[in-house]
Amino acid sequence: MQNGIFFSIISFVYCIFAIVLFFSKDKIKSKENKIYSVLLITNLIGLFIEVVPITLGIRSIVTMNEATLIFLLKLLLIYFIIWTLFFTDYILTVSKMKEKTSLYCKIIGIILGIISSVIIFILPLDYYINNGAAYSYGAAVNYCYLIAGMLIIICISLLLINIKKIALKKYYPLIVFLLLGTIITIIQARFPELTLMSSLHTFVLLVMFHSIENPDLKLINELEMAKEQADKANMAKTEFLSNMSHEIRTPLNAIVGFSECMLPSTDLNEIKGFARDIVDASHNLLEIVNGILDISKIEANKMEIINKEYNPREVFNSLCKLVKPRIKEKQIDFKINISPDLPGILKGDMGKLKQIVLNILTNAAKYTDKGQIEFNITCVNRTDINKCLLYIAVKDTGRGIKKENIEKLFNKFERIDVDKNTTIEGTGLGLAITKSLTEMMGGKITVNSKFGEGSTFRIYLEQEIISMEIPEGTSEEIEIDYTKHSGKRILIVDDSKINLKVANQILKPYKFNVKLVESGYEALECLESGTFDLILMDIMMPKMNGVETLRRLKKIEGFDIPVVALTADAIEGTDEKYLNAGFDDYLSKPIDRYELDRVLKKFFGGKKNNE
Ligand code: ADP
Repeated sequence: MQNGIFFSIISFVYCIFAIVLFFSKDKIKSKENKIYSVLLITNLIGLFIEVVPITLGIRSIVTMNEATLIFLLKLLLIYFIIWTLFFTDYILTVSKMKEKTSLYCKIIGIILGIISSVIIFILPLDYYINNGAAYSYGAAVNYCYLIAGMLIIICISLLLINIKKIALKKYYPLIVFLLLGTIITIIQARFPELTLMSSLHTFVLLVMFHSIENPDLKLINELEMAKEQADKANMAKTEFLSNMSHEIRTPLNAIVGFSECMLPSTDLNEIKGFARDIVDASHNLLEIVNGILDISKIEANKMEIINKEYNPREVFNSLCKLVKPRIKEKQIDFKINISPDLPGILKGDMGKLKQIVLNILTNAAKYTDKGQIEFNITCVNRTDINKCLLYIAVKDTGRGIKKENIEKLFNKFERIDVDKNTTIEGTGLGLAITKSLTEMMGGKITVNSKFGEGSTFRIYLEQEIISMEIPEGTSEEIEIDYTKHSGKRILIVDDSKINLKVANQILKPYKFNVKLVESGYEALECLESGTFDLILMDIMMPKMNGVETLRRLKKIEGFDIPVVALTADAIEGTDEKYLNAGFDDYLSKPIDRYELDRVLKKFFGGKKNNE
């Protein structure tokens, strides 16, 4: 039998082609590709040692002494170990080892490679030449087999561990290596002059090229995926815009239409009817705009949790006050049950909690025509870790939801039984926002409903306990008492005439002494000639904005009038921004009557003026 040099030469030539082909192509920078290229180069070096110097020396084409030949044979053994180390690294990579473990293995591999090289050079090696081939044996060769065997055992273990988790295709090079390796070992035992190991490496690399992700195909797949995602995002945007233009146009249509009807009318009752419809449509429009802002903020991950201390009893009672007007004309009993062990002061995102509960309460009010709405707040207090688990349940005897619709409830713009909903205003955004907010706060929302009988929405939320004691003056019912602060002097600064008019109207029931001015300069002038008990200051004004006006006001000697920022900038966290700017409080436009009352109470006290 001829010796294996024939296979080595073919492998050497193939290896050169493979390297030229592989490196001339644009590749994705994957770890598998990197190791593959290193394995190719290592294989080429090994084949070169085998084909060129060793063969030339043995066949006496070049004169070579014994020591040089032993050196070259030892170099070949080092090549075997290094190639097997890189091959093990490849198997570790496809086995998706953890970053850290993979790094440790790499360090151990480098150390093992260096130590093994030194040991092989130290250990003795013998050889005999037969039929134009050198067959080496001795301690260095045994050591080489030991290390290579150990590494192959590691590879087999990885294969067995991951056989179910990772596609078998990834392990094809290992399987080929094991099968052919066994066959070659048997052949070599019979014909020692056949040196086939380096050729086996080349064949394994050929299989590996097909088992690693085909670079072109992977690129195409990634591009296709990116395109699909971009298309989906684009479609969602288009759908959102068409939905929005419809949703916004509906209330706008009512506002414009009724306003036009109002102008020629001389019938006061008819005008009042139109005005009522305009107010309803405006509130609906405001709800839609706020909903869109919330949804886009949630989807852009810009919604932040802002934790503050709050009095939960006051929060829940004020929510009832907001809902009650909606059920005034219906025959509905509204019951609120607050568990006595509800802590006095909690810490959490009060704003979002209010939004969540208000939405559920409003829905109950909207979709219930008779019977009752029960608003229950219970809790489990873990005082040892200062945690309170709030259970908020809103139970109504309304129209209920069909089983098949329950899943759709929390989808954006999803309104159930739209044909029946035509008389009830809504956006289909409320529950989608409610669910996202609840989950953002680490809570959960559930629904139980029987079609035609009623629904129960439950919210579970954890809050921090600040104090168990109920603060003094916590009222069970919050009623606005307009007679409390009559006669107080209020200065309103806003560059928009309409906004001044609206603010003046809202303050009218309080019977204040109101002065309206349209710029910061006018406000400064007013303060030179008189004084006020409170200033409501718009922020966005031309020439001199609210913050600058406040700065100048504060320069006036003895100035101690509370100044409240008045702005349409309804982004959360703005209150802190304005407090930091020196304002005493913050009111967002459109002004909420209860918020306004809170601010007035804060500066004028809860007592009546004449007391
Ligand atoms: P909408 O603005 O339409 O109220 P939501 O997202 O708040 O939007 O609610 C989605 C749909 O869920 C509503 O259109 C309504 O059909 C249904 N729904 C919500 N709450 C109730 C309830 N308490 N009783 C019956 N149906 C409800």
